[in-house]
Amino acid sequence: MFRSSASPALSVLRRSYSNVAPTTKLFIDGQFVDSKTSSWVDLHDPATNNLVTKVPNSTQNEMQAAVDSAKKAFDSWKQTSVLTRQQLMLKLQAVIRRDIKKLAANITLEQGKTLSDAEGDVMRGLQVVEHSCSAGTLLQGESLQNIAKDMDIVSYKLPLGVTAGICPFNFPAMIPLWMFPLALIAGNTMVLKPSERDPGATMMIMELMNEIGAPPGLVNVIHGTHDSVNFICDSPDIRAISFVGSDRAGKYIYERGAASGKRVQSNMGAKNHAVVLPDADRGATIDQLIGAAFGAAGQRCMALSVAILVGEAQQWIPEIVERASRLKVSAGHEPGTDVGPVITPQSKQRILELVEAGIKQGAKCPLDGRNVKVEKYPNGNFVGPTLLTEVQPHHDCYKEEIFGPVLCVMSADTLEDAVAIINANPYGNGTAVFTTSGSHARQFVNEVDVGQVGVNVPIPVPLPMFSFTGSRGSFHGDLHFYGKQGLNFYTQTKTITSMWRKGQAAAKSSVSMPVH
Ligand code: NAD
Repeated sequence: MFRSSASPALSVLRRSYSNVAPTTKLFIDGQFVDSKTSSWVDLHDPATNNLVTKVPNSTQNEMQAAVDSAKKAFDSWKQTSVLTRQQLMLKLQAVIRRDIKKLAANITLEQGKTLSDAEGDVMRGLQVVEHSCSAGTLLQGESLQNIAKDMDIVSYKLPLGVTAGICPFNFPAMIPLWMFPLALIAGNTMVLKPSERDPGATMMIMELMNEIGAPPGLVNVIHGTHDSVNFICDSPDIRAISFVGSDRAGKYIYERGAASGKRVQSNMGAKNHAVVLPDADRGATIDQLIGAAFGAAGQRCMALSVAILVGEAQQWIPEIVERASRLKVSAGHEPGTDVGPVITPQSKQRILELVEAGIKQGAKCPLDGRNVKVEKYPNGNFVGPTLLTEVQPHHDCYKEEIFGPVLCVMSADTLEDAVAIINANPYGNGTAVFTTSGSHARQFVNEVDVGQVGVNVPIPVPLPMFSFTGSRGSFHGDLHFYGKQGLNFYTQTKTITSMWRKGQAAAKSSVSMPVH
């Protein structure tokens, strides 16, 4: 078991308060081990703030043991055939699919999102596992015969070695599954650091790795915050880092990892704009907007957190307010919940402050979820759906990523004006246009400077045969997560030039540069 249970009655959905919290273990060399640390992070259920578990800040020795195990495992794993690796991933997808509800229950307990949303979290990660099973084609290199007389060139995509993944709290299953399946299928091993705020899903997936007979050391899990991040950035044995999280951490990890010669892909924050044109399908567009703004309590990097209403669409605000006010706010496991709690009391406080700042700076608040009461869960970190209108680019609520159930509404006279607002924003993660006009949609797609664009699709997260292509301030690096780019990130190219010629030694050795 991935947790040492101080209370034998622990179940993944336990919600009663316990003085003696179980501790989350490390996963090193295929074993779940208790940390010897004296420093712990308390993890609370966001709906109740009851203590769920204590997560260790791993010691230096433990982190080194994780890397040593990954290094040792790499020696044999890199020699396995791609078919062997695919067999492992095929087994992994089957057990994740079987346990989807258990994983979702743990996500809801630790992260707070609704059960159906938590299942979506697992599903989107599972799709990457499934896609990794086509690595036989994706890992093929290039070749050219007769590049010169009697000479051929082939190139191979080879693994890097030990890689590392550093994850955020908001998708506890999906993001680890963006990382280690592709690293492994390419022949690497990985040291994974889930978010200290919700590591349970990762640990359950490690139990599944053991169940399917994954060799020890393919994935090792360490826990912690700054020290573990610094350890990963500095370790000479780690060749590449995949990071997903906030700007502050992402820029730091990108720079510190690169300074020690590592390849780093860093997916960071976002401010995703929806442009609503007056010719859009009104009912469907408002539904999509509400789902994408308030789903997961707004804690998605692809949440639509800004709506730019163009022209007549500005008349739709009362209907947006009316429909958003119908959403049910409660604990994520309660039937019918639309909006669960946000992750921590500090996060709630930050959201409230940004709403307050927006109002002080001139925004209007026709739907105010700041004082929402959830009677059954008086201690939860709840914020109800909130709408800020008349938002301006200089408002703090616009400049900052709120990461809560708050939709900022802006106005524009034309599509061109709306695109100008988006292109002036430093982020480039996602955006969407809602329209029934093909030419408007095409104009938007061509002119908007954002890496992932939806046309009547509110959260355009690409499927795993493509890559997650956030741009500008939302991404540091070159190669993106998953898809072909993901496999390129986890591989290096070796190019072999061969000449096979029946010998005829030249009369005199040539010392000029060969030019084929
Ligand atoms: P976070 O940056 O606080 O934490 C992410 C990871 O970095 C954690 O493992 C944490 O331990 C570590 N960390 C935190 N602060 C650090 C610091 N100062 N130095 C070094 N390491 C640090 O992010 P979060 O709050 O867990 O996640 C939410 C953020 O992630 C949002 O900004 C969201 O937009 C972003 N996100 C982006 C994507 C994307 O693909 N672009 C996807 C999901 C989440």
